[in-house]
Amino acid sequence: REYDYSDIMSIREEQATFVILGGGIAGVSCAEMLPFHNPEEKVILITASPLIKAVTNVVPCTKMLFDFDVEERTAETLSSKHPNVSIIQDVVVTLDSVNRKIFTKKGTCVSYKKLCICSGGQPKLIAEGNHFVLGIRDIDSVKDLQQRISKARRVVVVGNGGIATEVVYEIEGVEMVWAIKDKHISAPYVDPGAAQFLVTRLSEDKGGGKAICKRMKYTVSSEEQMSKGAALGPDWHANYAIEGSYIKKRDVTVEYNTEVKSVLDGDTEWPVYIELTNGKVYGCDFIISATGVTPNSAVFLKGNSFELAEDGGMRVNERMETTVVDVFAAGDVCTASWDLAPHWFQMKLWRQAWQMGMYAAKCMSASLASEPVMQDFCFELFAHVTQFFGFKVVLLGLYNGQRLEGQYEIMLRVTPGEEYIKLVVRGGRLQGAVLIGETDLEEMCENLILNQIDITGIDILDPRFTCTPLTI
Ligand code: FAD
Repeated sequence: REYDYSDIMSIREEQATFVILGGGIAGVSCAEMLPFHNPEEKVILITASPLIKAVTNVVPCTKMLFDFDVEERTAETLSSKHPNVSIIQDVVVTLDSVNRKIFTKKGTCVSYKKLCICSGGQPKLIAEGNHFVLGIRDIDSVKDLQQRISKARRVVVVGNGGIATEVVYEIEGVEMVWAIKDKHISAPYVDPGAAQFLVTRLSEDKGGGKAICKRMKYTVSSEEQMSKGAALGPDWHANYAIEGSYIKKRDVTVEYNTEVKSVLDGDTEWPVYIELTNGKVYGCDFIISATGVTPNSAVFLKGNSFELAEDGGMRVNERMETTVVDVFAAGDVCTASWDLAPHWFQMKLWRQAWQMGMYAAKCMSASLASEPVMQDFCFELFAHVTQFFGFKVVLLGLYNGQRLEGQYEIMLRVTPGEEYIKLVVRGGRLQGAVLIGETDLEEMCENLILNQIDITGIDILDPRFTCTPLTI
């Protein structure tokens, strides 16, 4: 053993069969499922935040897509619903995996038989410790953004993922510069055609009202109770007006194919400057850094032999086990390192965090009983539904031709301002789909990808083909 734990003082001892770390979607779904598999066993959830995230009102739309709300609740609600689940609100500082013990900041030592790490991630910032560079992860950061935007004239957004895309669309009343490293916007989610379809919205005003959100309501119980902790989720902006008052009309400049060269000190004109690799320099009030997430794994590494993936996530196998015995991981902190199904891949999204958490509970329980476990069906197909620029966006399977190395055909149907449908087909079989707008095609596409039925010669984008919604 390389690390000596004897210098860690613990003033309180606790023990449970199952210990879960993290009160985000992954940790809470794991804690809620464990009593279902093992009603007699004690469960302890340790979380740094006083509030936990719970998934509620689950309504299946198709086999793989769900409507649900995410609620922030006090940690006690979990224990009152599941008497065998206790909560410790504290920060974990060390893991001694050899003796199966976890140590917290306030001096509690928690022993476990099976541990699940669901510590999420934190935003990668383009400049650490710079007051003018803001990352968005939790409610505190949104409140900070809200405050700063009210006095701002110009904001630069760096990044091209889901958060950057949402932020650029949601923020109004200030000049915006959006710096992206790709040739088109929202590249991790959409192709250049769909980006073109969406980008037209950036020159339009939202018209006072926001698009009606038909699914995935992300609710927040009480603003006063918010504190640092779990990641935000879908519809986080619906609860907060993020508006400046400097300009009336939307004014977004997109800088394509560029990265940040440096962040420079401000002067009397602007508080901060950003220099891009395309040679341009912008003065602004602050910079929003939305360049991805780093898994919160560092605290557990000392003295433990976790294998990390390239993105810093803890590698997990098909049973959600890390490379350390009896330690599982789920959600943003882990990296799926099993032989992936042909149409599934990992993205750090709430739905995957939720499903991984539930499945990890099943795996922990099976491991305790030394029983085999069948991998969950949800890992068969990548499925994500979100809103971009007021449009519903459904992504299924290999929607961007991922892994197909350019060996595929595309079927396209576009009605400007209304819908954008892209189907990725190889060998006459559907591999993936991008459905923007109210297309009602998600269930058909999902079935065709899962069943791999030969669609050669069938024009499945003919509007006469309809899809009957699944009723359960
Ligand atoms: P988290 O929610 O980050 O929870 C981690 C938990 O671990 C927290 O409770 C934290 O307090 C605790 N913790 C961490 N370290 C310690 C420690 N040392 N000791 C004790 N406790 C600790 N996904 C989508 O699918 N769609 C979206 O539209 C979408 N929008 C997003 C918008 C924003 C602004 C952000 C930030 C994320 C968004 N996501 C979205 C991503 C989604 O929210 C995350 O993938 C998901 O919430 C991850 O859940 P998690 O449980 O793994 O981690």
